[in-house]
Amino acid sequence: MIPAAFDYHRPGTLDEAVKLLSSYGDQGKVLSGGMSLLPMLKIRLASFAHLVDIGRIPGLDYIKEEGGFLRIGAMTRQAALERSDLIRSKYPILADAVPLIADPLVRNRGTIGGNVANGDPANDEPAIVIALDQFTKWAVAGRFQLYEIRPVGPFLDITRLHNEGAAFGLLAEAGGWQRWFFLALAGAIGLAILGWLRTLPARGQEWLAIGLALILGGAIGNAWDRFIDGHVVDYLHFHWGEHFFPAFNVADIGITTGAIMLVIDALISHRRGKAAAG
Ligand SMILES: Cc1cc2nc3c(=O)[nH]c(=O)nc-3n(C[C@H](O)[C@H](O)[C@H](O)COP(=O)(O)OP(=O)(O)OC[C@H]3O[C@@H](n4cnc5c(N)ncnc54)[C@H](O)[C@@H]3O)c2cc1C
Repeated sequence: MIPAAFDYHRPGTLDEAVKLLSSYGDQGKVLSGGMSLLPMLKIRLASFAHLVDIGRIPGLDYIKEEGGFLRIGAMTRQAALERSDLIRSKYPILADAVPLIADPLVRNRGTIGGNVANGDPANDEPAIVIALDQFTKWAVAGRFQLYEIRPVGPFLDITRLHNEGAAFGLLAEAGGWQRWFFLALAGAIGLAILGWLRTLPARGQEWLAIGLALILGGAIGNAWDRFIDGHVVDYLHFHWGEHFFPAFNVADIGITTGAIMLVIDALISHRRGKAAAG
């Protein structure tokens, strides 16, 4: 089969790409490695009037550390991650995960930006939320005594707290039954999310799929702790002067980010529905 006709755009700068995408709205689509998008177009599971190829924009292909964060450019090929000394030496979870993706042909073209943006629940990156969550909790439990606090910046302490309740310590003092209650709740939510993900079309609902996958990863991360230890380890402790935000962990970040994405998705769908009706 051949794809439906589309206009191909090859912007030379990020600004140009953003302008093109804003002007084409729903009919414009980013093309990076093309490993998922092109087969979709070919078998006509999707069609877009405009493809904006970001592959020739300089400066989008990098792996570096900056300001305490690992930064990976949108056009960084998966093969580049596989070969990176920085990734191998300091981020072994990525070094271990990337070679498991497909085969060298796909990894030579496919980008991390495309993989994440694609939002395929079967992709490997969302599962990394679970692994990262478990790794960070394990690292904290091995290096910190219970209630120990070490400041790492003006607004952030790393600590080690055992939370037998839900977020913000809800039901933490309930006497033990809450462990099984939250496990049953996580199981029910997990099954509901899996069911929901199965009903989503292959393309067009990527934002919603990523949000659901993040919640699923976070729920599994915390449920695992409850099942094994009877509590969740919280260690990120933000504060502003004497005002403290309840401690949380990577799984909570996944759940919260996913929940925010779901709310945004619902608001956008609602507005679209109203616009279509009116
Ligand atoms: C045979 C095969 C096997 C695979 N096996 C695995 C596997 O085992 N594990 C795994 O994780 N993945 C797997 N993949 C997916 C692959 O790793 C790529 O991540 C995926 O194809 C998307 O990356 P891409 O750069 O090719 O994106 P494209 O195909 O170019 O784009 C995919 C989608 O993301 C959007 N997009 C791309 N870049 C951006 C951006 N910078 N900003 C916003 N939106 C963007 C596009 O508009 C499109 O909707 C496989 C793919 C193939 C073809």
